[in-house]
Amino acid sequence: MQKPKTLGELKKSHYQSVGVKDEMRANLIRKLTSGATLFPGIIGFDDAVIPNIVNAILSRHNFILLGLRGQAKSRLLRSLASLLDDEVPFIAGCEINDDPLGPLCRACHEKLEELGDDTPLDYLRPEQRYVEKLATPDVTIADIIGDLDPIKAARGGHTLSSELTIHYGLLPRANRGIFALNELPDLAGKIQVGLFNIMQEGDVQIKGYPVRLALDVELVFTANPEDYTARGKIITPLKDRIGSEIRTHYPETLEHAMAITAQEAWTDRVGAGRQFIPKFVREVIECVAFEARQDKRVDKRSGVSQRMPITCLENVVSSAEHRALKNHEEMVVPRPSDIYSALPSLTGKLELEYEGEMRGADTVAREIIRQAAAKIFKKYFDSVPLHSVVQWFEMGGTLKYAPSAPTEDLYAQFRKIQGLLEKTQMLGLKAKDDPALLVAGGEFILEGLYALKRISRNEEMGYFAEPRRAEKTEEEPAPLGPRRRPLN
Ligand SMILES: [Zn+2]
Repeated sequence: MQKPKTLGELKKSHYQSVGVKDEMRANLIRKLTSGATLFPGIIGFDDAVIPNIVNAILSRHNFILLGLRGQAKSRLLRSLASLLDDEVPFIAGCEINDDPLGPLCRACHEKLEELGDDTPLDYLRPEQRYVEKLATPDVTIADIIGDLDPIKAARGGHTLSSELTIHYGLLPRANRGIFALNELPDLAGKIQVGLFNIMQEGDVQIKGYPVRLALDVELVFTANPEDYTARGKIITPLKDRIGSEIRTHYPETLEHAMAITAQEAWTDRVGAGRQFIPKFVREVIECVAFEARQDKRVDKRSGVSQRMPITCLENVVSSAEHRALKNHEEMVVPRPSDIYSALPSLTGKLELEYEGEMRGADTVAREIIRQAAAKIFKKYFDSVPLHSVVQWFEMGGTLKYAPSAPTEDLYAQFRKIQGLLEKTQMLGLKAKDDPALLVAGGEFILEGLYALKRISRNEEMGYFAEPRRAEKTEEEPAPLGPRRRPLN
């Protein structure tokens, strides 16, 4: 069937206007009934976040997502466009997507009077109906709502308060769609009032002139929870008009987090060789974010974005590519040391508290990587004896190599350390696996022993054993006699 091209054809097709909130509700109901995935690509929010969004849309609410940075808030909001119809008709040429059966703007009214049923139509796709803006303190009423254009007035011979002289802002341009405003608390109070007036009455004042704009918009917002609840940041009547407040969160399990990182990170590359990213490397990277979020030296109020493990993994793969290219190797396999090479992708994403600032972002990031390596190492090697490896160092063995050392060299060196390569079985590796993998596994064991302070590592010496201090370890605490209880 042909799409109606004029108002007359549209009327004949028995088309009925539907408000955007009802349209989203109807499409959501359809998806819920058919059991379709509501928001493809959104991982780890099935607990409360998505059900809360579903309820907000069923309630026809404007809503706000409250969460720290890097919690996929913007992504969630963008995915709302999937609840819009594939196409909706509007009056061709209208700046604010007017409904052919109920136009708002003066220009469309005049057009209808002149052309009647011959008024031409055009169609909007869902992505054209999603408008997004980051609030900053310098955003103006003109940006969001609009401005009176004196030149337009002079040219058309209109008075300044005529609706024909409005230069529309982003919100009217989102008419019949979704308007997403990120970081709402950063919006000046005056503009919050303007937003509120539009939501409440459909009336707004532009430069003192009253303008009527009964817009049909689903308004969605994001904010950092502390900013949002801080007194005076959001005007009360606006807060009152936001139907639902929905809290987001960081991934709750390592598995969810790894799935998000795997989905978002750019690792599907060609050019440098055959790539294999060991699971334990992915796990340490992810654990770095979990550790950082709990670290006292990292600012809790700004959080640690999920973008951190994503960019870290990308950098880790690049570091492995760099090494493979330099050594003319076919296999690209990241090693734990590549995570340290990825520091530039980590440090900028840590907002540090005073104590952390004092130590420096590099030092804090290194320590967090070490904590993460310890955690993942324990997961695989908690009850696995590694005495023979530790002993090799205690007998005076040292191992120093550059992060860019070729696989072949390291493989030869690792083989000399009794038990080291054998123990990579615990990581799921087999003796006949590619040496690049076994080397990565061997290095993970060394890094784990270092993280648990069973061996040492520094710039000058590489891996080595501290003389005789290595006996007291986290894994094997020295037994305390009954009379030697610590005093506290
Ligand atoms: Zn119009």
